[in-house]
Order: sequence, then C-alpha cells, then structure tokens
Amino acid sequence: MTIDGILNKVRKTNSLTENEVLELLKTEETSKLFSAADAVRKEHVGDEVHLRALIEFSNICKQNCLYCGLRSGNSKTDRYRLEPKAIIELASKAKSYGYQTVVLQSGEDSHYTPDIMTGIISEIKKMDMAVTLSVGEKTFEEYKAYKEAGADRYLLRIETTDKSLYERLDPGMSLENRKECLKNIKKLGYETGSGILAGLPGQTLESIAKDILYLKSIPVDMAGIGPFIYNPDTPIDKNFDSNEKIFELSLRIMAILRLLMPDINIPATTAMEILDPEGRMIALKSGANVVMPNATEGEYSKKYELYPGKTKIAATPRENRINVENKIKSIGRSVSKTKGMSKTAGKKI
Ligand code: SAH
Ligand code: SF4
Repeated sequence: MTIDGILNKVRKTNSLTENEVLELLKTEETSKLFSAADAVRKEHVGDEVHLRALIEFSNICKQNCLYCGLRSGNSKTDRYRLEPKAIIELASKAKSYGYQTVVLQSGEDSHYTPDIMTGIISEIKKMDMAVTLSVGEKTFEEYKAYKEAGADRYLLRIETTDKSLYERLDPGMSLENRKECLKNIKKLGYETGSGILAGLPGQTLESIAKDILYLKSIPVDMAGIGPFIYNPDTPIDKNFDSNEKIFELSLRIMAILRLLMPDINIPATTAMEILDPEGRMIALKSGANVVMPNATEGEYSKKYELYPGKTKIAATPRENRINVENKIKSIGRSVSKTKGMSKTAGKKI
C-alpha cells in the first residue's frame, strides 16, 4: 500500500498490521505522517497541552539496567533520597506554580515502603492534585495500596518487547514480569502509561513495530517515547545511529501511536528536548499533547542523571513552568487549566 493508503486506513479504522506499522517507520514521506498525527491530535484531544510537574525524589535504584545512569552498578552517581516532608513540599510548590498533576519518579528504592508511599500520596491528594507514580516494578498489593491512597496514574515503560534484548539490557529482570505489572496496573484502574526506548543498540524496526502494537493491545492511556541517549557512565554500547536519526525515529513512533490511539495522552519527553533544543515543541506538532517540566529543586535534578545533558535544560521549577508556557503559546497552543485526565481510562479503545 502507498503511504497515503496506509494513512487513510489508519484514520478510518485506527488499526494497522505489523507490516503497515513498519512501512510508516521506514517511510521517507515523514511530513505526511507527522501532519496526519497532528491533525488527529487536534481533532481528538484539542490544542490544550497538559503540564505535569516531575518530582525526582530518589536516585537510588536496586536495578541495573545497562542504559541508565541510576543503575546500581554506577558508582559515579552521587545518591540522594528526599524525605516525605520534602516531597510533599515540592508538590505544594508545584501547585502554587499552577500545576494540577505531580509525577513522583524514582529509581526502584525499597526505602519507600508502602506505608511511606501511601502517606505521601494521601497528603498530596489533599491538595486536590492528580498523582502519577513512576517508581518501577511492584507487587499487585503495593500497586493496590497506592491506588487506594489516591494515586491516579502509573507510568511503567515496557522499554522493548524484544525478549532477548530486554533481558540483555535489564539483567535480573524479566519481560514477563514487566508485562504482568502493566496488566495489574491496568486492572486496578490506573490511567496506565507505558512506552518504549527508541534507538537502543541491537533494536530493530521490526521489534519497534511489535512494541507499538503491544502498547495498543493493553491499551495504554498514555504512551511516552524516550529516545535512547548514550550515558558514558554505563556499560551499554554507544549507538550506531546519530542523535538526529534517533530523534526522528522517536517522532515517527509517537505519530504512529497517535494515529492508532487518537484519544490517549502522549508526552513530548525531556529526552527529546536534549537531542534537539526545540525537541518538545516539534513533538507537540507531531502528535503529542503533554509536557512534564521538572519541578525538582536544587542539586537533586542534576544528580538524577538517567542520561547526560539534563543540566543543559536545568532551571528552577518556577522558571521551567514559565519557559514551557511561553514556548507552548509561541506555537499557537495553550496550557490546560484542568487535570487533563485521560479520555480513554477505563474504556476499551
Ligand atoms: N525506575 C523507574 C522510573 C525511573 S526511570 C523505571 O525504570 O520505570 C524512567 C525511564 O527513564 C525509564 O523507563 C527509561 O525508559 C528512561 N531512561 C533510562 N535511561 C535512559 C537513557 N540512557 N536514555 C533515555 N531514557 C532513559
Ligand atoms: Fe533503575 Fe529505572 Fe534506571 Fe532501570 S531505568 S536502572 S529501574 S531507574
């Protein structure tokens, strides 16, 4: 089928075969793909951009993912852990800057027991904010406890559905368990966010096509695509592809996801901004409708180095909020005044 044919089909049916996804991942007619995704975004979720304040509360992690600077084997990371009081204080400041959602993110740090986490969640819920968690793989009971304390959303990227690649890059972890976690998150009624890393060494476009269809099969309420950024303090091979190519690949994946799932939330991710100074705005024009500005204060955000380069875009939380809003306005979009709950949560797409 021609690219026009595939785009017409997906706009009518919101479905694609694996081969058709692959055609879109390879096409040279990228401007057609990006403008189709932009049109679907406008039609289904509108011009408003939802902002989520990201609080990176601990960089201590028991896992050892080969690509990530927070991996337990990286002795160069200067580790920190914020006290519950400090986390709640950051959420309260985020609220005062106009945010309606906080995203609490960390390494897999067992210091934060279910009691501690539920205490933090319920305090933040008293401020009338939506709470998103991104704290890794937990048991069903833990996910349930967080949900009952008021957590609204959970982010857990599948990273890749290529089993051998997953298990090589995430030693000691299993793809089955990751999928089981996502099933549990969905079952518990969270707005379920997942996504993939794009441009990993050893990853093929065929496997990315499968990843995309996996996200559709859950179906996710939010999908975030992170371009892989090489971190020299990790043992992974440096990628073959240029940053430009990986950035473009991430945009393609994002655009295809928008076409397949018109109503979901799709963030323009921080890693995109690191590969291109206008990365997040480009993403907002290619299917995305969410931005997650950093609201972690002081030295901590610099120490939360999943990948290098974050210091380039580091500013205070207040400045981040103002800068992002100005940029969003400059591309003719507006910042939402609502919590931006997903249109799809709890529904079959
Ligand atoms: N520990 C939790 C949350 C923090 S990590 C978890 O793993 O789910 C959040 C995300 O950072 C991961 O899902 C991964 O996709 C991304 N990440 C890690 N290292 C990266 C790198 N080198 N480049 C781009 N993204 C990276
Ligand atoms: Fe830990 Fe998450 Fe980094 Fe893996 S990706 S090492 S789980 S912080």
